[in-house]
Amino acid sequence: MKAYTRIMKTGITLTDLTKTYHGTKTPALDRLSLTVAPGEIYGYLGANGAGKSTTIRLLLNFIQPTKGTATVNDLDSVEDTVKLKKQVGYLAGDIALYPKATGKQTLDYLLHLQGVDDTSYRDTLVKRFGATLDKPIADLSKGNRQKIGIIQACMHQPSVLILDEPTSGLDPLMQEAFYKTMREAKARGAAVLMSSHNLAEA
Ligand code: ADP
Repeated sequence: MKAYTRIMKTGITLTDLTKTYHGTKTPALDRLSLTVAPGEIYGYLGANGAGKSTTIRLLLNFIQPTKGTATVNDLDSVEDTVKLKKQVGYLAGDIALYPKATGKQTLDYLLHLQGVDDTSYRDTLVKRFGATLDKPIADLSKGNRQKIGIIQACMHQPSVLILDEPTSGLDPLMQEAFYKTMREAKARGAAVLMSSHNLAEA
């Protein structure tokens, strides 16, 4: 019989998280502890170089901690990274989507990867953001690419959202659309970690 482990929706927990990059002496991140509970939006504010992207890269196991731990829904960022990624909607600071695919192909493919058949929330977001779906990603402006990035992170309604500078490149109207999407995520109990260097926004 296959054993199923129930995943507890506990949000994000960082404990003494420390990262010293190879060839550097000063840690980019020094014993950071924080929690983002379900239903909480955590505005992760800091100057350029403060370690925001480092934290996010650690959570997704793109890099590994020098010390300390990062967990999502009690799944360890290093030990349980495959399971962890299934819990997360992620937007990178510098989104790299396949340039030749259209917005529609990109979103269809990524939703399929998430194993989600119901396209209704994806369609709601496409409408809300007025996303351009028929052009290759390479032909989109930064703002229009960012919209595709936000939609792909949110469309499968994950229990945890990790977003690196999500509003960069968005005009004020689209920022409003984004905040609405975050309020919906919060209302359904998602834990949201969102980096920003914009004090008002955080
Ligand atoms: P933020 O996202 O807040 O702007 P980062 O996490 O990108 O900050 O950077 C934190 C610190 O780590 C900075 O001092 C940066 O120069 C350093 N850093 C980031 N990536 C690397 C790397 N790959 N190698 C060495 N140092 C790095």
